[in-house]
Amino acid sequence: MADKDNLEIMRHSAAHVMAEAVLSIFPEAKFGIGPAIQDGFYYDFELPRPLTPDDLPVIEAKMGKIIAANLPFTRQEVTKKKAKAIFAAQPYKLELIDEIPDEKVSLYQQGEFIDLCRGPHVSSTGEIKAFKLLSIAGAYWRGDEHRPMLQRVYGVAFDTEEALAEHLKKLDEAARRDHRKLGKELDLFSLHEEAGPGLVHWHPKGAVIRRLIEDFWKDEHIKRGYNLVYTPHIAKLDLWKTSGHWEFYRDYLYSPMEVEGQEYIIKPMNCLGHIMIYKTSQHSYRELPLRYAELGTVYRYERSGVLHGLSRVRGFTQDDAHIFCRFDQLEDEVAGVLDLALFMIDTFGFSDYQVFLSTRPEKYAGTLQAWEEATETLSRALVRQGIPYSVDPGEGVFYGPKIDIKFEGWQGPTIQVDFNLPPRFNVTYIGEDGKEHLVAMVHRTVLGSMERFLASLIEHYGGAFPLWLAPVQVVIIPVADRHLEYARKLEAELKSEGVRVGVDGRSETVNLKIRQAQLDKIPYMLVVGDKEVAASTVSVRLRSGEKLDLQPFGDFKQDLKAAIIRRASL
Ligand SMILES: [Zn+2]
Ligand SMILES: [Zn+2]
Repeated sequence: MADKDNLEIMRHSAAHVMAEAVLSIFPEAKFGIGPAIQDGFYYDFELPRPLTPDDLPVIEAKMGKIIAANLPFTRQEVTKKKAKAIFAAQPYKLELIDEIPDEKVSLYQQGEFIDLCRGPHVSSTGEIKAFKLLSIAGAYWRGDEHRPMLQRVYGVAFDTEEALAEHLKKLDEAARRDHRKLGKELDLFSLHEEAGPGLVHWHPKGAVIRRLIEDFWKDEHIKRGYNLVYTPHIAKLDLWKTSGHWEFYRDYLYSPMEVEGQEYIIKPMNCLGHIMIYKTSQHSYRELPLRYAELGTVYRYERSGVLHGLSRVRGFTQDDAHIFCRFDQLEDEVAGVLDLALFMIDTFGFSDYQVFLSTRPEKYAGTLQAWEEATETLSRALVRQGIPYSVDPGEGVFYGPKIDIKFEGWQGPTIQVDFNLPPRFNVTYIGEDGKEHLVAMVHRTVLGSMERFLASLIEHYGGAFPLWLAPVQVVIIPVADRHLEYARKLEAELKSEGVRVGVDGRSETVNLKIRQAQLDKIPYMLVVGDKEVAASTVSVRLRSGEKLDLQPFGDFKQDLKAAIIRRASL
């Protein structure tokens, strides 16, 4: 296995080779940039026509020829003036040259293609081993929607054919589990260009899952001493000026609306509402901690180019909470949040996480001493809970240190201390000394948002949700019409026990109905025919195709109920 740097150099070199191949097809092509990225590379082009997937094999074939010719990569240094002459017909390159502070710039050439580039590169094109072009996407020049939209071609490259094949297999599996695809197939949610991008519509089956998550979340928070609250979706702009949001996050806020001569904005966060509630009365040190939790729907502006299914949206419901406590309670509170977070993670079947403690960045609110103490407190809470973690130096937000629990494909729980809002809103308590003290304020979310969490959940389970979350838990399949009555009777019995159950009474074959239930990823299928009707039994099949023993319906019902309560399967 080549080391990572060599792979990166090879991947970047493959981008140059792809550019040469594109140049040979489109002599008038204009070139943007072509970096190596994780697993591969891309290059941005301005071309006379839009590329289609059919173009990719053609470009690949040209690349194959360039690689077979084993052309050397040659480097030269030239003055910026000379470079501008060379790239006279390449407006994007000219823009880049202007931004280079040095007198001279370096160029790399292989075959017919010359590029402005810092390097390094492989010595010749023959060193590029296994590669494949994957996709075409639109990309604004420099990510700026006011600049031209270029065509970005993505590819992957590895040092062996085996490594490439393995990677392509992984991509296939990921595509199969893609929440956007499964969300449509399982009828869970939709987004509508007509209604606005990044705005999620939860369909009945998706809404079932969301309600179960929310109910579980609320119950668990109440058990752990949180108070549930609700706060308004809009608030006066002045409030967001006091908080600093208007100053620091204006790019993410929607424009103000005017109501009776006052400007209001739609909330991007729930924090201020909770502060309003806290401040309605004076609190003594004895009352703390106070924990306010809300499934709060917020709206933030994200550029349409970065929106992605449920995982990057413009409106979302955070599973939010704010803890107001004394600094001497902070460690217990953070430990409590960690315990809750790990319990939820485990319940939803996630594992393999990494924990990060992010410390003070260069620009920060609060005092140096407060930061050091709070960071130390977070670290003590982690140690106390037996959670291994790494320090992310300088990666805290400006207002306080934080703990992140991260998963592959899911930005999990975050716990964040805030030195900014308490002084801005004078959020205080009366201490034992009879004096006013600023509270320690903690923002925390366990699931992130309902939208993002559903995306992770779909991909984690490949759409086959665990029994307690499955939108439909059981489908009853009568063999013939004469078994329909028995099927309806079982359905009614299960329904009365709160089981989400349906009957597939269509005049189709049993096999076809089983196939449909498997596509719908329904955990249990009860096939009922003459034998089952006569003995009040059921033949149980799992969505995996596995069959259980013929069993009395009563036993099945009891076991199923118990499994749902335990959040387990049969
Ligand atoms: Zn280069
Ligand atoms: Zn908050």
